Amino acid sequence: MSSPTSAVSARSQALFERGSAVTPGGVNSPVRAFNAVGGTPRFITSARGAWLTDADGNELVDMICSWGPMLLGHAHPEVLAAVNAAVARGTSYGTPTVPEVELAEEIVSRTPVERVRFVSSGTEATMSAIRLARGFTGRDMIVKFAGCYHGHVDSLLVAAGSGLVTLGVPGTPGVPDSATALTLVLPYNDRAAVTQAFAEHGDRIACLITEAAPGNMGVVPPEPGFNQFLAETCAANGALFISDEVMTGFRASRQGQWGLDGAVEGWRPDLVTFGKVMGGGFPAAAFGGRADVMAHLAPQGGVYQAGTLSGNPIATTAGLTTLRLATDEVYAHISAAGEVIKAGAAAALTAAGVPHRVQSAGTMFSVFFTENEVRDFDDAGTQHVAAHAAFFHSMLDAGVHLPPSAYEAWFLSAAHDDHAVQTVLDAFGPAAEAAA
Ligand code: PLP
Repeated sequence: MSSPTSAVSARSQALFERGSAVTPGGVNSPVRAFNAVGGTPRFITSARGAWLTDADGNELVDMICSWGPMLLGHAHPEVLAAVNAAVARGTSYGTPTVPEVELAEEIVSRTPVERVRFVSSGTEATMSAIRLARGFTGRDMIVKFAGCYHGHVDSLLVAAGSGLVTLGVPGTPGVPDSATALTLVLPYNDRAAVTQAFAEHGDRIACLITEAAPGNMGVVPPEPGFNQFLAETCAANGALFISDEVMTGFRASRQGQWGLDGAVEGWRPDLVTFGKVMGGGFPAAAFGGRADVMAHLAPQGGVYQAGTLSGNPIATTAGLTTLRLATDEVYAHISAAGEVIKAGAAAALTAAGVPHRVQSAGTMFSVFFTENEVRDFDDAGTQHVAAHAAFFHSMLDAGVHLPPSAYEAWFLSAAHDDHAVQTVLDAFGPAAEAAA
């Protein structure tokens, strides 16, 4: 296995040193640092379509897509035009605005939610949904799954995936035991554990929150019927089922993960959280759900929730324009490009004798560096992270920017054309050799 290398990156390195002098770890979100793979993160100075340009002028195929949001690719001309027109009308008023109504209508029209409230991050969305569930039910306990990440909400930072697992930290200092004492953590895809938790605590459980299809321990699809089972178990016990679609929403399919299971099987979550794609690259997120539950939010109801920039007109304009352009053809394109890339990765890793698993949820997918099927967080932890790191750096040197963690989904966009896909395919062979 070769050690991490880096191509031309002198300017990124200088910027990283400068940034590290004024920002902890030199980054504003931990997973952006290359802690898990070693080396220096690239500073991106511009992006267009499927391509990033870094400070040293390297052109890189973007397989991060801002961790999901850039469904249409970077600098999409229609999104930019709509945003520029919105900016010219002023950037924030602190009053109701037209794009908020239009984006809410768009979300209600294609997802199971009847009412929606905007916030500025996925973290706020899940935090608010949990508070609402507790306020609605008058109960205090919540259930989550190990390996599911729902943002940096105190009560949900237990056995969370994403940056936490990347850093090898199971929880975090700063969150008192009392903040997580009411959080039950269960193994994912484990029906018996869910049944047992509700048998023991059913009358105290306000809600169960799950990633609709986990993407923060790598992509781990729910086993067939698992989300339906969760919805039914919650309903039978008077608890609310919160489906976190911050990552999967408008990404796994046009209707998110729910379009792949709930819409087909005929059930609805009580609450849903959204983020990423619905902000079109701006800070926008939302939570929504049953009208009778959402009616408990202030000012209608007593559960307080607010935000100075919530529903910001620029962010909602970007999100609205993105969703309107996110047609069935967009998903078909991303799906087809994903199939080619998944097959290419598997072929190269097989040829090099590198243990791997490729797993998908709709158009989302990731490559695990393990021989095991990954059904839960423990399985994800069997990965050979050093092999991933070697693979990552070889890909980067060949002009492909994968997520710098073995526990993250790989993201594509409508702009990943044949040239971008071929660049990725060409890089796989040497990268698999480096990982062997
Ligand atoms: N929920 C899920 C499923 C996520 O993937 C994320 C972020 O990656 C969040 C919540 C938190 O969103 P944000 O980073 O916007 O706070």
